[in-house]
Amino acid sequence: VIQICLPLNSLGFVFRQTRDAAVNAEKMLRLLEQKPEIGEIAQAADLAVSRGEVRFEHLDFGYEPNRQILRDVSFTISPGGTVAVVGGSGSGKSTLARLLFRFYEVGGGRILIDGVDIREVSLRSLRAALGIVPQDTILFNDTVAYNIAYGRPGASLAEVIDAAKAAHVHDFISALPNQYDTEVGERGVMLSGGEKQRIAIARAILKNPPILVFDEATSALDTRSERAIQDELDRLAKTRTTLIIAHRLSTVVDADEILVLEHGRVVERGSHDHLLRQGGIYAQLWQLQRQQQEVERAERGLATQQ
Ligand code: ADP
Ligand code: MG
Repeated sequence: VIQICLPLNSLGFVFRQTRDAAVNAEKMLRLLEQKPEIGEIAQAADLAVSRGEVRFEHLDFGYEPNRQILRDVSFTISPGGTVAVVGGSGSGKSTLARLLFRFYEVGGGRILIDGVDIREVSLRSLRAALGIVPQDTILFNDTVAYNIAYGRPGASLAEVIDAAKAAHVHDFISALPNQYDTEVGERGVMLSGGEKQRIAIARAILKNPPILVFDEATSALDTRSERAIQDELDRLAKTRTTLIIAHRLSTVVDADEILVLEHGRVVERGSHDHLLRQGGIYAQLWQLQRQQQEVERAERGLATQQ
């Protein structure tokens, strides 16, 4: 196992231990306010998503002036389509998602939704059109119901429960001391990375936005629950414009286009079959993950024999 896992680890294609990241709403707002560079133009119009095309055009970006993170990244997600981004840890994948949400200002190039530069629309309307299942889910110090309904305030409890069922987290919530009224986070029940991730998935399902981002959306789940939730995510992605950031390549096979990112640069791109035929980095990663799966399967086999 170790022999096969090591190269994967070094590339960052590993189960990520999601940090316990419970913060309260005030803290979150303060964090957002600390970024004065994000402004709205005067009388910014509201974004009206019609077709749902997302286009990244010659994007350059760095968090700090002298350290470029993304270099000339371009791709288009057609309306209802899916683009997947894979690459090692630190290659800039999550940064793409942060820029789409406009948590930072792009250095060069632009991001367009239905042909409109996202800098020209109100932040509120931009973020209302986007849903994300993030790598590290942040829960508010509030009830489970509040945390699921966060993306769509005013949702009924019945709607919250439907979303939780779809995210396979309803049974877990039902077993909590106060079910959907249970407080979570620093002042309440502490949840595992996988449980938080399911709540984030329920939140995205309930929000039901035209554009979705999955940032290693199932990384905190074990393989078995991943499969069940993956089906739900696939169903969600089918009719929406979706950006998938993936650590497990099994989730990107059907994407219209797969980008391999290395040090912020797109080094390979194409469909799964095209990239396999090309025999480059993607093909190598695919091979490695296949081997790892074989080992996992063999181990499970041994475990059940014992
Ligand atoms: P990935 O998602 O591919 O693992 P990220 O997009 O999160 O990578 O990060 C890309 C690079 O940017 C990394 O080198 C990371 O250390 C750096 N980085 C991420 N967030 C910040 C930040 N807020 N300030 C400075 N550097 C950052
Ligand atoms: Mg990331």
